[in-house]
Amino acid sequence: MKPFLILLLFVCVSCAETSRPELIPVPTTIPSPEEPSPEPTVEPTPTPLSTPTPEPTPTPDPVETIDLGYMGFSGERPQGLVTSACTPETIYGKAVQGVQEHIDRYDRMCEAAKQEGKIFAVRSAFRNYYDQLDYYTSERFGPSVALHPDESMHVAGMAIDLTVDYREWRHMIIGCYEETENRFTYLTQEIPHLLYAANVRNGVFQDLCEQEKSVIPIKRSMLYGLTPGCTDLNNPEWWGDPEVIECSSATLLPNGMVREDWHFENATIVSAFVQD
Ligand SMILES: [Zn+2]
Repeated sequence: MKPFLILLLFVCVSCAETSRPELIPVPTTIPSPEEPSPEPTVEPTPTPLSTPTPEPTPTPDPVETIDLGYMGFSGERPQGLVTSACTPETIYGKAVQGVQEHIDRYDRMCEAAKQEGKIFAVRSAFRNYYDQLDYYTSERFGPSVALHPDESMHVAGMAIDLTVDYREWRHMIIGCYEETENRFTYLTQEIPHLLYAANVRNGVFQDLCEQEKSVIPIKRSMLYGLTPGCTDLNNPEWWGDPEVIECSSATLLPNGMVREDWHFENATIVSAFVQD
């Protein structure tokens, strides 16, 4: 008896399912929402101007942020070369070129320096694959100074080598970045990088960044998304290490390359919250 009832129910349900569309009465006229209302006159008269409720003024974002570049560039490598407007030629008379994203960063830093009467001079910027291969295989440079063209940011149009002029300005320690809290703090007084490194070595930590591995002393060039070749950006040492801060070419990176305080390349930019 029971199984028969269930079967009957099932049959009934499936009957209803298949015949449902026929059971729903289809309205003859469907009001189209797109159609404009034919009688605009019946619009309700606007309510008389009551005391205008003061719109809450959107509170401006109270948190100031700053863009910093210090990690190895992880974005897509753009293509197409443009010439620097701030320094159109190298000291050897070649065009100072790079991809737009790099030249924009360089020109912004270069113009800021120019405002202070500091005129940068460029040794080398974009290098083609074969020039870089020449550097890499040459006796004069070789693999400890020049990267293989496949790894070189110069070949990617994202690196620039400057002369020693105004090196201090570019390497000046201007603030500290706390990585875990993504917080940037300006130093009350900016400190030349060599003095900063000497103070760390002498244990004079007053007015320096916190001596924590998560705290990175920020050099002025990093504010422009250009990071000096003081460490391997893809596998960085601690930026607060005095040897890294000094960035002397007399010292080597763990990968055997010399530190290059003249070399600046595009770094990945992080937006950090500025602490008062
Ligand atoms: Zn370089």
